Amino acid sequence: MKRREFLAQATLAGMAISLPSFVLPNSKKINNTSVIIIGAGFAGLAAAYQLFKKNIPFILLESRSRYGGRVFSHALTPRLVVELGGEWVGASHTRIRELCDEMNLTLENNQMDTHLIYKNQYFAKGKWDYSNAWKQKFEHIIKTYPQLTEEDKKQLDQYDWWRYLVNNGCTGRDLEIRELLDSTDFGESIRHVSAFAALAEYAESSPKNEMDFKIKGGNSKLADAIVAKIGKQNINLNHTVTHIIQNNKVEVRCSNGKSFIADKIICTAPTFALQKINWSPELTPAYKNALNELQYARITKRAFAFSKRFWKDESFDLITDQAPHYFYHASKNQPGPSGALISYSIGDKALINADYSNTNAAREMAACLEPFFGPVKKLLKAQQYYYWGQDIYSQGAYAMYGIGQWFTIRPQLLQPHLHTHFAGEHLADWQGFMEGAINTGEDAASNIIQ
Ligand SMILES: Cc1cc2nc3c(=O)[nH]c(=O)nc-3n(C[C@H](O)[C@H](O)[C@H](O)COP(=O)(O)OP(=O)(O)OC[C@H]3O[C@@H](n4cnc5c(N)ncnc54)[C@H](O)[C@@H]3O)c2cc1C
Repeated sequence: MKRREFLAQATLAGMAISLPSFVLPNSKKINNTSVIIIGAGFAGLAAAYQLFKKNIPFILLESRSRYGGRVFSHALTPRLVVELGGEWVGASHTRIRELCDEMNLTLENNQMDTHLIYKNQYFAKGKWDYSNAWKQKFEHIIKTYPQLTEEDKKQLDQYDWWRYLVNNGCTGRDLEIRELLDSTDFGESIRHVSAFAALAEYAESSPKNEMDFKIKGGNSKLADAIVAKIGKQNINLNHTVTHIIQNNKVEVRCSNGKSFIADKIICTAPTFALQKINWSPELTPAYKNALNELQYARITKRAFAFSKRFWKDESFDLITDQAPHYFYHASKNQPGPSGALISYSIGDKALINADYSNTNAAREMAACLEPFFGPVKKLLKAQQYYYWGQDIYSQGAYAMYGIGQWFTIRPQLLQPHLHTHFAGEHLADWQGFMEGAINTGEDAASNIIQ
Protein backbone atom coordinates (compact mmCIF):
# COMPACT_ATOMS: atom_id res chain seq x y z
CA MET A 1 0.00 0.00 0.00
CA LYS A 2 1.40 3.40 -0.94
CA ARG A 3 1.70 6.32 1.48
CA ARG A 4 -1.24 8.11 -0.13
CA GLU A 5 -3.60 5.13 0.07
CA PHE A 6 -2.57 4.29 3.59
CA LEU A 7 -2.99 7.80 4.85
CA ALA A 8 -6.35 8.25 3.17
CA GLN A 9 -7.60 5.18 5.00
CA ALA A 10 -6.06 6.20 8.29
CA THR A 11 -7.64 9.65 8.03
CA LEU A 12 -11.08 8.35 7.18
CA ALA A 13 -10.90 6.00 10.11
CA GLY A 14 -9.98 8.89 12.42
CA MET A 15 -12.76 11.09 11.06
CA ALA A 16 -15.41 8.45 11.56
CA ILE A 17 -14.73 8.45 15.28
CA SER A 18 -14.90 12.17 15.88
CA LEU A 19 -17.19 13.77 13.30
CA PRO A 20 -19.56 16.28 14.97
CA SER A 21 -22.73 14.54 15.96
CA PHE A 22 -25.12 17.22 14.66
CA VAL A 23 -26.10 17.69 11.04
CA LEU A 24 -24.61 20.68 9.23
CA PRO A 25 -27.16 23.20 7.95
CA ASN A 26 -27.87 23.18 4.25
CA SER A 27 -26.22 25.71 1.96
CA LYS A 28 -28.94 28.35 2.00
CA LYS A 29 -27.25 31.52 0.80
CA ILE A 30 -26.74 34.48 3.09
CA ASN A 31 -25.14 37.64 1.74
CA ASN A 32 -24.80 35.76 -1.52
CA THR A 33 -22.00 33.64 -0.05
CA SER A 34 -22.17 30.07 1.12
CA VAL A 35 -18.46 29.24 1.50
CA ILE A 36 -15.68 31.41 2.87
CA ILE A 37 -12.21 30.32 1.83
CA ILE A 38 -9.34 31.62 3.95
CA GLY A 39 -6.08 31.98 2.00
CA ALA A 40 -5.37 32.51 -1.71
CA GLY A 41 -2.40 30.15 -1.91
CA PHE A 42 -2.62 27.06 -4.13
CA ALA A 43 -4.88 25.22 -1.63
CA GLY A 44 -7.38 28.07 -1.42
CA LEU A 45 -7.33 28.78 -5.15
CA ALA A 46 -7.78 25.10 -6.00
CA ALA A 47 -10.74 24.90 -3.59
CA ALA A 48 -12.26 28.06 -5.07
CA TYR A 49 -11.91 26.73 -8.61
CA GLN A 50 -13.78 23.54 -7.68
CA LEU A 51 -16.62 25.51 -6.07
CA PHE A 52 -16.69 27.89 -9.03
CA LYS A 53 -17.11 24.97 -11.45
CA LYS A 54 -20.06 23.72 -9.37
CA ASN A 55 -21.68 27.17 -9.14
CA ILE A 56 -21.36 27.24 -5.37
CA PRO A 57 -21.07 30.82 -4.13
CA PHE A 58 -17.82 31.55 -2.30
CA ILE A 59 -15.64 34.39 -1.23
CA LEU A 60 -11.89 34.19 -0.77
CA LEU A 61 -10.17 36.20 1.98
CA GLU A 62 -6.40 36.69 1.76
CA SER A 63 -4.12 38.59 4.14
CA ARG A 64 -1.44 39.48 1.65
CA SER A 65 -1.71 42.00 -1.12
CA ARG A 66 -0.99 39.27 -3.71
CA TYR A 67 -2.27 35.82 -4.71
CA GLY A 68 -0.21 32.62 -4.57
CA GLY A 69 0.94 32.48 -0.94
CA ARG A 70 4.13 30.46 -0.75
CA VAL A 71 4.36 30.40 -4.53
CA PHE A 72 6.13 33.66 -5.21
CA SER A 73 7.65 34.35 -8.64
CA HIS A 74 9.86 37.43 -8.67
CA ALA A 75 11.38 39.48 -11.52
CA LEU A 76 15.00 39.64 -10.37
CA THR A 77 15.82 41.73 -13.43
CA PRO A 78 13.52 42.82 -16.27
CA ARG A 79 14.60 39.61 -18.10
CA LEU A 80 14.96 37.04 -15.32
CA VAL A 81 12.10 35.60 -13.26
CA VAL A 82 13.02 33.48 -10.25
CA GLU A 83 11.00 31.59 -7.69
CA LEU A 84 11.39 32.75 -4.10
CA GLY A 85 8.90 30.07 -2.96
CA GLY A 86 7.72 26.80 -4.56
CA GLU A 87 9.97 25.85 -7.48
CA TRP A 88 9.74 22.36 -8.99
CA VAL A 89 6.66 20.63 -10.35
CA GLY A 90 7.09 16.87 -10.02
CA ALA A 91 6.54 14.31 -12.75
CA SER A 92 4.21 12.43 -10.35
CA HIS A 93 2.25 15.58 -9.48
CA THR A 94 -0.75 14.89 -11.64
CA ARG A 95 -3.22 17.56 -10.49
CA ILE A 96 -0.91 20.51 -10.90
CA ARG A 97 0.11 19.19 -14.31
CA GLU A 98 -3.54 18.80 -15.31
CA LEU A 99 -4.36 22.31 -14.10
CA CYS A 100 -1.45 23.70 -16.14
CA ASP A 101 -2.84 21.92 -19.21
CA GLU A 102 -6.32 23.25 -18.52
CA MET A 103 -4.96 26.81 -18.18
CA ASN A 104 -2.73 26.51 -21.27
CA LEU A 105 0.42 26.96 -19.23
CA THR A 106 3.63 25.36 -20.43
CA LEU A 107 5.71 23.18 -18.17
CA GLU A 108 9.39 23.37 -19.01
CA ASN A 109 12.00 20.80 -18.09
CA ASN A 110 13.73 21.94 -14.92
CA GLN A 111 15.79 18.88 -14.06
CA MET A 112 19.27 19.43 -12.70
CA ASP A 113 22.59 17.53 -12.72
CA THR A 114 24.31 17.89 -9.41
CA HIS A 115 27.89 19.09 -8.93
CA LEU A 116 29.55 18.93 -5.50
CA ILE A 117 31.89 21.00 -3.36
CA TYR A 118 32.99 18.87 -0.42
CA LYS A 119 35.94 19.48 1.89
CA ASN A 120 37.32 22.20 -0.41
CA GLN A 121 37.27 20.01 -3.49
CA TYR A 122 35.03 20.50 -6.52
CA PHE A 123 33.49 17.57 -8.40
CA ALA A 124 31.61 18.24 -11.64
CA LYS A 125 28.39 16.32 -12.42
CA GLY A 126 29.10 12.65 -12.97
CA LYS A 127 32.45 12.92 -11.21
CA TRP A 128 31.23 12.12 -7.74
CA ASP A 129 29.13 9.38 -6.27
CA TYR A 130 28.32 7.48 -3.10
CA SER A 131 30.33 4.36 -2.24
CA ASN A 132 29.25 1.20 -4.09
CA ALA A 133 28.27 -0.46 -0.83
CA TRP A 134 25.89 2.37 0.13
CA LYS A 135 24.45 2.69 -3.39
CA GLN A 136 23.58 -1.01 -3.40
CA LYS A 137 22.14 -0.84 0.08
CA PHE A 138 19.96 2.17 -0.76
CA GLU A 139 18.71 0.57 -3.97
CA HIS A 140 17.67 -2.43 -1.92
CA ILE A 141 15.88 -0.20 0.63
CA ILE A 142 13.89 1.52 -2.11
CA LYS A 143 13.12 -1.76 -3.89
CA THR A 144 11.78 -3.40 -0.74
CA TYR A 145 9.76 -0.37 0.42
CA PRO A 146 6.50 -1.67 -1.13
CA GLN A 147 6.75 -4.72 1.13
CA LEU A 148 6.60 -2.65 4.33
CA THR A 149 3.49 -3.26 6.41
CA GLU A 150 1.50 -0.47 8.05
CA GLU A 151 3.08 -1.50 11.35
CA ASP A 152 6.59 -1.26 9.82
CA LYS A 153 5.77 2.27 8.64
CA LYS A 154 4.56 3.34 12.07
CA GLN A 155 7.74 1.91 13.57
CA LEU A 156 9.84 3.93 11.12
CA ASP A 157 8.00 7.05 12.23
CA GLN A 158 9.40 6.53 15.73
CA TYR A 159 12.89 7.71 14.85
CA ASP A 160 14.71 10.12 12.56
CA TRP A 161 16.04 9.80 9.03
CA TRP A 162 19.69 10.33 10.09
CA ARG A 163 19.41 7.42 12.55
CA TYR A 164 17.77 5.26 9.89
CA LEU A 165 20.63 5.92 7.48
CA VAL A 166 23.24 5.17 10.15
CA ASN A 167 21.44 1.97 11.17
CA ASN A 168 21.51 0.90 7.55
CA GLY A 169 25.25 1.34 7.14
CA CYS A 170 25.46 4.87 5.75
CA THR A 171 28.53 6.44 7.34
CA GLY A 172 31.36 8.96 6.81
CA ARG A 173 31.34 10.78 3.48
CA ASP A 174 28.17 9.00 2.28
CA LEU A 175 26.29 10.17 5.36
CA GLU A 176 27.58 13.73 5.20
CA ILE A 177 26.61 14.13 1.53
CA ARG A 178 23.21 12.59 2.13
CA GLU A 179 22.65 15.03 5.01
CA LEU A 180 23.59 17.97 2.74
CA LEU A 181 21.30 16.79 -0.06
CA ASP A 182 18.36 15.43 1.90
CA SER A 183 18.17 18.43 4.21
CA THR A 184 17.34 20.57 1.18
CA ASP A 185 14.19 18.46 0.75
CA PHE A 186 13.04 18.85 4.35
CA GLY A 187 14.44 22.29 5.11
CA GLU A 188 16.07 21.25 8.39
CA SER A 189 18.70 18.74 9.46
CA ILE A 190 17.66 15.15 8.75
CA ARG A 191 18.23 14.50 12.46
CA HIS A 192 14.84 16.16 12.99
CA VAL A 193 12.86 14.45 10.22
CA SER A 194 10.71 11.33 10.65
CA ALA A 195 12.39 8.34 8.99
CA PHE A 196 9.03 7.29 7.60
CA ALA A 197 8.28 10.71 6.09
CA ALA A 198 11.70 10.74 4.43
CA LEU A 199 11.71 7.16 3.19
CA ALA A 200 8.18 7.47 1.80
CA GLU A 201 9.20 10.59 -0.09
CA TYR A 202 12.24 8.96 -1.69
CA ALA A 203 10.53 5.63 -2.39
CA GLU A 204 7.42 7.15 -3.97
CA SER A 205 8.97 10.01 -5.94
CA SER A 206 10.03 10.31 -9.57
CA PRO A 207 13.67 9.39 -10.40
CA LYS A 208 14.69 13.08 -10.06
CA ASN A 209 12.83 13.32 -6.74
CA GLU A 210 10.01 15.43 -8.22
CA MET A 211 12.45 18.13 -9.35
CA ASP A 212 11.20 17.86 -12.92
CA PHE A 213 9.42 20.93 -14.30
CA LYS A 214 8.66 24.61 -13.80
CA ILE A 215 5.89 26.74 -15.27
CA LYS A 216 7.10 28.91 -18.15
CA GLY A 217 7.12 32.53 -17.04
CA GLY A 218 6.99 31.61 -13.33
CA ASN A 219 4.90 29.36 -11.12
CA SER A 220 2.73 32.32 -10.06
CA LYS A 221 1.21 32.12 -13.56
CA LEU A 222 -0.93 29.26 -12.29
CA ALA A 223 -2.30 31.43 -9.47
CA ASP A 224 -2.97 34.23 -11.98
CA ALA A 225 -4.74 31.82 -14.34
CA ILE A 226 -7.03 30.44 -11.63
CA VAL A 227 -7.80 33.97 -10.41
CA ALA A 228 -8.76 34.94 -13.98
CA LYS A 229 -11.14 31.96 -14.16
CA ILE A 230 -12.85 32.44 -10.79
CA GLY A 231 -12.98 36.23 -11.03
CA LYS A 232 -11.07 38.85 -9.06
CA GLN A 233 -14.35 40.13 -7.63
CA ASN A 234 -14.58 36.92 -5.57
CA ILE A 235 -11.21 37.49 -3.90
CA ASN A 236 -10.54 40.04 -1.19
CA LEU A 237 -6.84 40.77 -0.77
CA ASN A 238 -5.60 42.57 2.37
CA HIS A 239 -8.25 40.79 4.44
CA THR A 240 -6.72 39.13 7.50
CA VAL A 241 -9.16 36.86 9.27
CA THR A 242 -9.05 37.43 13.03
CA HIS A 243 -12.26 35.83 14.34
CA ILE A 244 -14.28 32.78 13.33
CA ILE A 245 -17.62 32.39 15.05
CA GLN A 246 -19.58 29.26 14.29
CA ASN A 247 -23.22 28.73 15.22
CA ASN A 248 -25.86 27.61 12.73
CA LYS A 249 -23.88 29.66 10.23
CA VAL A 250 -20.34 30.98 10.27
CA GLU A 251 -19.25 34.55 10.75
CA VAL A 252 -15.73 35.56 9.80
CA ARG A 253 -14.30 38.88 10.94
CA CYS A 254 -11.24 40.57 9.49
CA SER A 255 -8.72 42.99 10.98
CA ASN A 256 -9.95 45.72 8.62
CA GLY A 257 -13.40 45.66 10.27
CA LYS A 258 -15.17 43.73 7.48
CA SER A 259 -17.19 40.62 8.32
CA PHE A 260 -18.73 37.89 6.22
CA ILE A 261 -21.42 35.31 6.89
CA ALA A 262 -21.70 31.99 5.14
CA ASP A 263 -22.57 28.36 5.64
CA LYS A 264 -19.12 26.82 5.63
CA ILE A 265 -15.45 27.63 5.76
CA ILE A 266 -12.40 26.20 4.06
CA CYS A 267 -9.37 27.32 6.05
CA THR A 268 -6.03 26.96 4.28
CA ALA A 269 -3.94 29.09 6.65
CA PRO A 270 -0.61 27.56 7.71
CA THR A 271 -0.69 26.40 11.33
CA PHE A 272 1.06 29.48 12.74
CA ALA A 273 -1.56 31.81 11.23
CA LEU A 274 -4.39 29.45 12.08
CA GLN A 275 -3.38 29.54 15.73
CA LYS A 276 -3.62 33.32 15.80
CA ILE A 277 -7.29 33.29 14.77
CA ASN A 278 -9.76 33.68 17.61
CA TRP A 279 -12.04 30.64 17.30
CA SER A 280 -15.50 30.50 18.84
CA PRO A 281 -16.16 27.81 19.88
CA GLU A 282 -12.49 27.11 20.53
CA LEU A 283 -10.55 24.47 18.67
CA THR A 284 -10.38 21.21 20.63
CA PRO A 285 -7.47 20.72 23.06
CA ALA A 286 -6.18 17.87 20.84
CA TYR A 287 -6.25 20.14 17.80
CA LYS A 288 -4.44 22.92 19.68
CA ASN A 289 -1.80 20.44 20.88
CA ALA A 290 -1.22 19.31 17.32
CA LEU A 291 -0.85 22.94 16.20
CA ASN A 292 1.71 23.49 18.94
CA GLU A 293 3.71 20.39 18.00
CA LEU A 294 4.10 20.83 14.27
CA GLN A 295 7.21 22.72 13.18
CA TYR A 296 7.90 24.36 9.82
CA ALA A 297 11.27 24.31 8.05
CA ARG A 298 13.49 27.38 7.84
CA ILE A 299 14.60 28.08 4.28
CA THR A 300 16.25 31.13 2.72
CA LYS A 301 16.37 31.60 -1.01
CA ARG A 302 18.89 34.20 -2.10
CA ALA A 303 18.86 34.88 -5.84
CA PHE A 304 21.94 36.29 -7.58
CA ALA A 305 21.73 37.75 -11.11
CA PHE A 306 24.96 37.53 -13.13
CA SER A 307 25.78 39.15 -16.45
CA LYS A 308 27.08 35.79 -17.72
CA ARG A 309 26.17 32.13 -17.06
CA PHE A 310 29.65 31.15 -15.88
CA TRP A 311 28.34 27.75 -14.75
CA LYS A 312 27.85 26.93 -18.47
CA ASP A 313 25.63 23.89 -17.92
CA GLU A 314 21.93 24.89 -18.17
CA SER A 315 21.03 22.02 -15.79
CA PHE A 316 23.59 23.12 -13.22
CA ASP A 317 23.06 22.64 -9.55
CA LEU A 318 25.67 22.35 -6.83
CA ILE A 319 25.56 20.98 -3.32
CA THR A 320 28.18 22.39 -0.97
CA ASP A 321 29.29 21.91 2.62
CA GLN A 322 29.59 25.70 2.99
CA ALA A 323 27.25 28.45 4.23
CA PRO A 324 25.37 29.06 0.92
CA HIS A 325 24.54 25.30 1.06
CA TYR A 326 22.93 24.62 -2.32
CA PHE A 327 23.10 26.58 -5.58
CA TYR A 328 20.94 25.92 -8.62
CA HIS A 329 20.40 27.53 -11.97
CA ALA A 330 17.19 29.50 -11.39
CA SER A 331 16.88 30.87 -14.94
CA LYS A 332 17.01 27.63 -16.90
CA ASN A 333 15.07 27.97 -20.20
CA GLN A 334 15.11 31.78 -19.99
CA PRO A 335 17.06 33.61 -22.71
CA GLY A 336 20.64 34.65 -21.76
CA PRO A 337 23.35 35.76 -21.69
CA SER A 338 22.56 36.92 -18.16
CA GLY A 339 21.40 34.29 -15.70
CA ALA A 340 20.49 33.65 -12.09
CA LEU A 341 21.70 31.26 -9.42
CA ILE A 342 19.76 30.75 -6.23
CA SER A 343 21.53 29.92 -3.01
CA TYR A 344 19.10 27.78 -1.01
CA SER A 345 19.99 27.27 2.60
CA ILE A 346 18.18 25.46 5.39
CA GLY A 347 17.89 25.39 9.17
CA ASP A 348 20.44 27.54 11.04
CA LYS A 349 22.22 28.30 7.76
CA ALA A 350 18.99 29.86 6.46
CA LEU A 351 19.01 32.47 9.21
CA ILE A 352 22.70 33.23 8.63
CA ASN A 353 22.07 33.58 4.89
CA ALA A 354 19.11 35.87 5.55
CA ASP A 355 20.97 38.10 8.01
CA TYR A 356 23.84 38.87 5.61
CA SER A 357 23.93 42.29 4.07
CA ASN A 358 24.02 42.06 0.26
CA THR A 359 27.73 42.84 0.44
CA ASN A 360 28.40 40.00 2.85
CA ALA A 361 26.19 37.60 0.94
CA ALA A 362 28.13 38.39 -2.24
CA ARG A 363 31.38 37.79 -0.34
CA GLU A 364 30.18 34.38 0.93
CA MET A 365 28.96 33.40 -2.53
CA ALA A 366 32.34 34.34 -3.99
CA ALA A 367 34.29 32.55 -1.24
CA CYS A 368 32.41 29.37 -2.09
CA LEU A 369 32.46 29.60 -5.91
CA GLU A 370 35.55 31.61 -6.95
CA PRO A 371 38.15 28.93 -6.10
CA PHE A 372 36.53 26.72 -8.76
CA PHE A 373 34.77 29.10 -11.18
CA GLY A 374 37.13 32.10 -11.20
CA PRO A 375 36.30 35.76 -10.42
CA VAL A 376 32.49 35.58 -10.54
CA LYS A 377 31.69 38.35 -8.05
CA LYS A 378 32.46 40.97 -10.69
CA LEU A 379 29.66 39.47 -12.84
CA LEU A 380 27.07 40.03 -10.10
CA LYS A 381 24.32 42.49 -11.11
CA ALA A 382 21.49 42.11 -8.59
CA GLN A 383 20.30 40.03 -5.70
CA GLN A 384 17.11 39.39 -3.73
CA TYR A 385 16.38 37.07 -0.83
CA TYR A 386 13.39 35.79 1.08
CA TYR A 387 13.66 34.13 4.49
CA TRP A 388 10.62 31.93 5.07
CA GLY A 389 11.50 31.32 8.73
CA GLN A 390 10.19 34.81 9.43
CA ASP A 391 7.25 34.88 7.05
CA ILE A 392 4.51 36.34 9.25
CA TYR A 393 1.91 33.76 8.20
CA SER A 394 3.87 30.50 8.10
CA GLN A 395 7.11 31.14 10.04
CA GLY A 396 8.59 28.53 7.73
CA ALA A 397 8.71 27.27 4.17
CA TYR A 398 6.59 24.16 4.72
CA ALA A 399 5.69 21.79 7.53
CA MET A 400 8.35 19.39 8.78
CA TYR A 401 7.02 16.19 10.30
CA GLY A 402 9.35 15.11 13.09
CA ILE A 403 9.65 11.92 15.08
CA GLY A 404 6.31 10.24 15.81
CA GLN A 405 4.23 12.97 14.16
CA TRP A 406 3.17 11.68 10.77
CA PHE A 407 0.53 9.23 11.97
CA THR A 408 -0.68 11.31 14.89
CA ILE A 409 -0.59 15.05 14.23
CA ARG A 410 -1.57 15.03 10.59
CA PRO A 411 -4.85 13.07 11.00
CA GLN A 412 -5.68 15.33 13.96
CA LEU A 413 -5.15 18.52 11.97
CA LEU A 414 -7.35 17.18 9.18
CA GLN A 415 -10.37 16.91 11.49
CA PRO A 416 -13.06 19.43 10.57
CA HIS A 417 -14.10 21.92 13.26
CA LEU A 418 -17.90 22.31 13.07
CA HIS A 419 -18.52 23.97 9.67
CA THR A 420 -14.81 24.45 8.96
CA HIS A 421 -12.77 22.15 6.74
CA PHE A 422 -9.00 22.50 6.79
CA ALA A 423 -6.63 22.36 3.83
CA GLY A 424 -3.04 23.28 2.98
CA GLU A 425 0.24 21.59 2.17
CA HIS A 426 0.79 20.60 5.82
CA LEU A 427 -2.16 18.19 5.56
CA ALA A 428 -1.28 16.59 2.25
CA ASP A 429 0.02 13.19 1.26
CA TRP A 430 2.31 15.16 -1.06
CA GLN A 431 3.22 17.25 1.96
CA GLY A 432 5.54 20.20 1.32
CA PHE A 433 4.58 20.40 -2.36
CA MET A 434 2.35 22.62 -4.48
CA GLU A 435 0.61 19.41 -5.57
CA GLY A 436 -0.22 18.63 -1.94
CA ALA A 437 -1.73 22.08 -1.41
CA ILE A 438 -3.92 21.63 -4.51
CA ASN A 439 -4.99 18.11 -3.47
CA THR A 440 -6.12 19.25 -0.01
CA GLY A 441 -7.94 22.31 -1.37
CA GLU A 442 -9.82 20.13 -3.84
CA ASP A 443 -10.58 17.54 -1.15
CA ALA A 444 -12.00 20.24 1.14
CA ALA A 445 -14.19 21.54 -1.68
CA SER A 446 -15.38 18.00 -2.43
CA ASN A 447 -16.38 17.57 1.21
CA ILE A 448 -18.64 20.61 0.83
CA ILE A 449 -19.96 19.76 -2.62
CA GLN A 450 -21.12 16.27 -1.53
C1 LIG B 1 11.31 28.09 -0.18
C2 LIG B 1 10.25 27.14 -0.64
C3 LIG B 1 10.55 26.17 -1.56
C4 LIG B 1 9.58 25.30 -2.01
N1 LIG B 1 9.86 24.42 -3.01
C5 LIG B 1 8.86 23.70 -3.56
C6 LIG B 1 9.09 22.93 -4.74
O1 LIG B 1 10.19 22.93 -5.30
N2 LIG B 1 8.05 22.23 -5.26
C7 LIG B 1 6.81 22.24 -4.67
O2 LIG B 1 5.90 21.59 -5.20
N3 LIG B 1 6.57 22.97 -3.56
C8 LIG B 1 7.56 23.70 -3.01
N4 LIG B 1 7.31 24.47 -1.92
C9 LIG B 1 6.04 24.31 -1.20
C10 LIG B 1 4.87 25.00 -1.83
O3 LIG B 1 5.20 26.31 -2.21
C11 LIG B 1 3.75 24.98 -0.79
O4 LIG B 1 3.48 23.63 -0.42
C12 LIG B 1 2.42 25.58 -1.27
O5 LIG B 1 2.61 26.75 -2.00
C13 LIG B 1 1.55 25.83 -0.05
O6 LIG B 1 0.28 26.29 -0.46
P1 LIG B 1 -0.88 26.47 0.61
O7 LIG B 1 -2.05 26.99 -0.12
O8 LIG B 1 -1.02 25.25 1.43
O9 LIG B 1 -0.32 27.57 1.63
P2 LIG B 1 0.02 29.11 1.34
O10 LIG B 1 0.59 29.26 0.01
O11 LIG B 1 0.81 29.57 2.51
O12 LIG B 1 -1.41 29.81 1.34
C14 LIG B 1 -2.07 30.15 2.54
C15 LIG B 1 -2.52 31.58 2.41
O13 LIG B 1 -3.27 31.92 3.57
C16 LIG B 1 -3.04 33.30 3.83
N5 LIG B 1 -3.41 33.54 5.23
C17 LIG B 1 -2.79 33.10 6.34
N6 LIG B 1 -3.47 33.51 7.44
C18 LIG B 1 -4.53 34.21 7.01
C19 LIG B 1 -5.59 34.90 7.67
N7 LIG B 1 -5.68 34.93 8.99
N8 LIG B 1 -6.50 35.53 6.91
C20 LIG B 1 -6.43 35.52 5.55
N9 LIG B 1 -5.45 34.88 4.88
C21 LIG B 1 -4.50 34.24 5.60
C22 LIG B 1 -1.55 33.46 3.57
O14 LIG B 1 -1.20 34.80 3.32
C23 LIG B 1 -1.37 32.57 2.35
O15 LIG B 1 -1.45 33.31 1.15
C24 LIG B 1 8.26 25.37 -1.47
C25 LIG B 1 7.96 26.36 -0.54
C26 LIG B 1 8.93 27.25 -0.14
C27 LIG B 1 8.55 28.33 0.81
